[in-house]
Amino acid sequence: MSTFQAPKGTYDLIPPESAKYLAVREAIAAPLKNSGYGYIETPGFENVELFSRGVGESTDIVSKEMYAFETKGGTKLALRPEGTASVLRAALQANLHKLGNLPVKLWYSGSYYRYERPQKGRYRHFSQVGAEAIGAEDPALDAELIILADQAYRTLGLSQFRILLNSLGDKECRPVYRDALQGFLRGLELDEDTRRRVEINPLRVLDDKRAVVQKQLVGAPLLRDYLCDACKAYHEEVRELLTAAGVAYQDDEKLVRGLDYYTRTTFEFVHDGLGSQSAVGGGGRYDGLSEMIGGPALPSVGWALGVDRTVLALEAEGIELELPATTSVFAVPLGEEARRVLFGLVTELRRAGVATDFSYAGKGLKGAMKSANRSGARYALVAGERDLAEGVVQLKDMQSGEQSPVALADAVDAIRERLA
Ligand code: AMP
Repeated sequence: MSTFQAPKGTYDLIPPESAKYLAVREAIAAPLKNSGYGYIETPGFENVELFSRGVGESTDIVSKEMYAFETKGGTKLALRPEGTASVLRAALQANLHKLGNLPVKLWYSGSYYRYERPQKGRYRHFSQVGAEAIGAEDPALDAELIILADQAYRTLGLSQFRILLNSLGDKECRPVYRDALQGFLRGLELDEDTRRRVEINPLRVLDDKRAVVQKQLVGAPLLRDYLCDACKAYHEEVRELLTAAGVAYQDDEKLVRGLDYYTRTTFEFVHDGLGSQSAVGGGGRYDGLSEMIGGPALPSVGWALGVDRTVLALEAEGIELELPATTSVFAVPLGEEARRVLFGLVTELRRAGVATDFSYAGKGLKGAMKSANRSGARYALVAGERDLAEGVVQLKDMQSGEQSPVALADAVDAIRERLA
């Protein structure tokens, strides 16, 4: 072991487990690529103010969990705690919204950082795949994103998840509700921290999981009763489109989510096999965010799905992903001359697209066959001096144990044929 360990709240992805993460990212990305979303990549850190203004000064993510630091040059940066603000910043910077083709639809995949108390499913470094549809107000976009996330989870084989849906209203109706809720909350018995939250971000109090708080929230005014007609109609349309697509959801009036920028549609995917960290993904509409970070009005909607928790959800449901074989052919040379010849053949096979590995460092037959076995290869390719003299290599079927000579000159074609 090295003197060093992965920092607290982080873990390494190591083969063969790591292949699952790649497969999950790919499964989430596939329906997006198939629906007009283009790939975007942004830096791992941004100007700290992008997040304090965008995500919100009063949110836990910004006030408690951000890895913020000052560079030697005095610039205040932060490791990105989430993806939306960065993606919108990048889209605005590149003037994607001015190209006359709204909405701008983007997807991304990467690492995010939050200084949270680590536990199962909650890490300080985690991985998300996300999607944003920027610059259009259309319930079909909100529905589309929810449907695509549902499709991604289902392709992975997941079924024990639920979709929670809510509307947070807009700049017309939400302030009225906020006042009403604040009035109600001020009358409760709350600790100091929560009382402060009532003043700066009362909606977040609804999200408090503690029983002492939840008990008192019975009878709190519900946003549903305050939604303006436009928000109501919008929400109804999203619900109808989801129903028409056969995507089941549950209305959850208390779903507010931890970021300030959400308006109207908000949703969360929760998995019932994950215990307390049950949210596998979430998102919503953020019609005001662009203006909050200095851009024009650009109503938008997006989500981010957590890769780490999706992998945990697969484990909870006992799902083994069918991962592509990492090695199809494993070459075992016996002797120096064979080493050179087989290495050449391995190179040819690889160039022909056959997943091939090689026994290195002059291992003997026994040790090399062990490696071939471990690699999971379908065939071992064995050759010694006598084989080479005859112009053949031995192809051994690792399942049946049968071995037969193949002419060296057409080994690549012969192997490809057998693998097909
Ligand atoms: P959020 O941006 O908080 O809505 O998070 C979106 C998704 O990212 C969540 O549903 C989780 O799956 C994942 N996620 C957020 N924070 C963490 C974390 N600290 N550790 C692991 N996954 C996380």
